[in-house]
Amino acid sequence: MWASLLMVPAGCSRTVIPSSVADVPIVRVRLLESQEKVLVTASAPPTIQSTTNPPAPMPFPNAPVEVRLASDGWRIGDVPVGSGELIVKPALEGSVAINGQSYRGTYHLVPVSAGKFDLVNYVDIDSYLKSVVSSELLAGWQDEAYKAQAIVARTYALYEARTNSAGRYWDVYADTRSQVYGGIKAESDKSIRAVTETSGVVLAYGPAGQEKIFKAYFSSCCGGISQSAYDAFGDPYIEPLSDQNVGPMCNISPHFNWGPIDITKAELTRRIKAWGASKGRAEKDMGALDRIDIQYVNRFNRPIRFLLTDANGKRYSLGSEETRWACNMDAKDGPRLKSSFFRPVNDADKVSFVDGHGFGHGAGMCQWCAEARAEAGWRHEDIVLTSFPKAKLFRAY
Ligand SMILES: [Zn+2]
Repeated sequence: MWASLLMVPAGCSRTVIPSSVADVPIVRVRLLESQEKVLVTASAPPTIQSTTNPPAPMPFPNAPVEVRLASDGWRIGDVPVGSGELIVKPALEGSVAINGQSYRGTYHLVPVSAGKFDLVNYVDIDSYLKSVVSSELLAGWQDEAYKAQAIVARTYALYEARTNSAGRYWDVYADTRSQVYGGIKAESDKSIRAVTETSGVVLAYGPAGQEKIFKAYFSSCCGGISQSAYDAFGDPYIEPLSDQNVGPMCNISPHFNWGPIDITKAELTRRIKAWGASKGRAEKDMGALDRIDIQYVNRFNRPIRFLLTDANGKRYSLGSEETRWACNMDAKDGPRLKSSFFRPVNDADKVSFVDGHGFGHGAGMCQWCAEARAEAGWRHEDIVLTSFPKAKLFRAY
């Protein structure tokens, strides 16, 4: 099945017809990291299995039960259930909650160090997307924007599962590091409909007959000019993930214009050094910040690289998203930059970030542009193909 995603057949129509799905790929979502215990509630006896114990149904009391990893193996309450990886398979979808949250699919508890484990949800990708699409978009948005998001999120998740997870026991995070996934309670009728009606549909790109899925980025609001994934993240350049001048399409977003946001140079120095330390980069030893300047812009005049100069005259060149991450590092309740699309104005003790546009990284599909197009009557196929130039739509399963 995965091989078909690497080289999907040519000649498919851009209009795809969903059909019933027999063989839907599984996505492994890391819900929790390095836990010492979780609380499990089961309204029907789940099947419990570990590396050393065969599958067996296990009744639960009508109350949360603590699951932990002792030195000699797993305990569900006081009951030993073997060692290695622990699998909890609900008897019915939604009948098992972990720390109060229910998810479709099965739960895998994977030991990561002495007494600690990760919680990974194995879930078919369409069940996963039913929660992702409604978590990523506003409830009142158009059906066609929901379907566009379903296709893009499906492509992104399959790409991550196929390419980035080699040697890992999980594929995606459950938050904005991958895609926001809120489990069953986050699903809506609209998201379920959008996923069902686009089931199996993905974006792919490449020479005819050799099209492959790619990392189909999306973000909240591009601010009128998107940036390429190459400029944003240093990803390999491909045309579907190039920069685009969209114009004021997404000015229906409250984030289309923002600023000025003022941050003191002392605070920026603290944040940038903390970011440098977290990445093992030279910025960790930066002197007091003196100024921030735009170093390069893209062909539509959106900044894609900034130059940070410290009080000793030493210069640090940061990519657009690196700059945003560095300026927002450990911001706590302090001011944060919504995007890297801004103009810095250097005052004596502070930097004013003015002429701000957009929210998020601005690469790939802009969600607010997608909603604006849907409101203007666009079909979801046209929304995604405009967002990713030269890409095509295929059935992956
Ligand atoms: Zn936009």
